[in-house]
Amino acid sequence: MTELTDDQFRDKIRDFLARYADVEGWTRDRYGRAPLDSAPNDVRLARNRRCLTLLHEHGLGAISWPREYGGQGLSNRHSVIFNQEIAGYSLPLGMFIIGHGMCAPTVLAYGTDAQKDRYLPPLLSGEEVWCQLFSEPGAGSDLASVSCRAEPDGDGWVVNGQKVWTSGAHNASFGLLLARSDGTAARHTGLTTFIVAMDNPGIEVRPLVEMTGTAKFNEVFFTDCRLEATAVLGEVGSGWRNAITTLMNERVTIGTSSPGGFGFPSSVLIEEAKLNGKASNPVMVDKMVSIVIAERIVKFLGMRVTEALLSGAEPGPEGSIAKLAGTRLSKTSAALALELVGPASLAWDAADAAGATWADVAVATPGLSIAGGTDEIMRNILAERVLGLPRDPRPNN
Ligand SMILES: Cc1cc2nc3c(=O)[nH]c(=O)nc-3n(C[C@H](O)[C@H](O)[C@H](O)COP(=O)(O)OP(=O)(O)OC[C@H]3O[C@@H](n4cnc5c(N)ncnc54)[C@H](O)[C@@H]3O)c2cc1C
Repeated sequence: MTELTDDQFRDKIRDFLARYADVEGWTRDRYGRAPLDSAPNDVRLARNRRCLTLLHEHGLGAISWPREYGGQGLSNRHSVIFNQEIAGYSLPLGMFIIGHGMCAPTVLAYGTDAQKDRYLPPLLSGEEVWCQLFSEPGAGSDLASVSCRAEPDGDGWVVNGQKVWTSGAHNASFGLLLARSDGTAARHTGLTTFIVAMDNPGIEVRPLVEMTGTAKFNEVFFTDCRLEATAVLGEVGSGWRNAITTLMNERVTIGTSSPGGFGFPSSVLIEEAKLNGKASNPVMVDKMVSIVIAERIVKFLGMRVTEALLSGAEPGPEGSIAKLAGTRLSKTSAALALELVGPASLAWDAADAAGATWADVAVATPGLSIAGGTDEIMRNILAERVLGLPRDPRPNN
């Protein structure tokens, strides 16, 4: 089959969006955001699955993944074109971000052929949702402190311990678990990653309500959870290397999402300033100009990271810079939005479906400074690996 030119591929995406965006409700609201979706979890999951299924049916799902695993076998350049074209829409694909952006690259990098054949096709098609079981009450930034234990048992393993902040665990069929498989080895070498079926009778998922009012992440408890030997991803003791691959991909995924993607685009803020008679207020103008500049910086950082990935490089510290800059932009634009709209951010007309957007964004953006590595950790990486400054003292090593 001959490959489409870039322009033909772009047209194909535009045709797809023209056919489905309006009827499926994938348009953006007057704030340039995806409309708030307060539907029950199972309804939202069904919407995410339908969107991904439609994309696959039209040759637009898992664009740069190999055909043998259910992808389109196209280049990363095609993925970039796809992301550019859908930027003005609100395709509901958020429930697949962890599986596609973080778990799948790790399975592809370290999985056996049997694991790739079994797990990647349903993961990429959306039939099976994945979650990332890394953080614990005593291990977040210092992830090598993971204490959830995996002990050899016959020809398999038994897992006991607790994970926390596990996004989407309530929807997940599988999770990528980081556990301590050797309590006597050095901190980083005693870790192993496992692929776990979330319906294992030794696993209990308890939802945690966030300050947004939604419950998108969970506590996950392991009690005598039995795993087969084939659940090990990579080699026993290679968990730290595998976790770093997942985290690097996570930072790139967060950092290269559309500029201000979690806050408000400057165009929306400028429009709002005009409506509120604040467009000629010099303090507001100064802040809006700062947002426009930050948007450009985040856009160029994203392009730099994308270029590096296109040339075959592994995700590196650039992903941390992009994540830090993207987080700062999202938070600053959300804060400026509140200044511009004033009381409307606290009280809105119930009939105005988009009215809750201001408040929702304001309470959702602070979490970006924590998820996927905190701002302080990103700054440490930047200082040490980009600027070459002295290494920050580490606990126990
Ligand atoms: C929305 C959201 C979704 C998440 N989803 C997942 C998920 O799906 N799976 C998962 O495994 N985890 C998830 N997390 C957890 C996230 O990865 C951790 O919260 C994060 O790594 C920070 O760990 P912690 O919460 O234990 O904070 P801590 O590590 O205890 O940090 C507390 C404070 O100390 C600071 N600090 C710590 N170490 C240093 C240092 N060396 N130098 C300077 N300052 C330091 C931190 O910056 C922070 O301000 C999610 C978090 C959020 C907010």
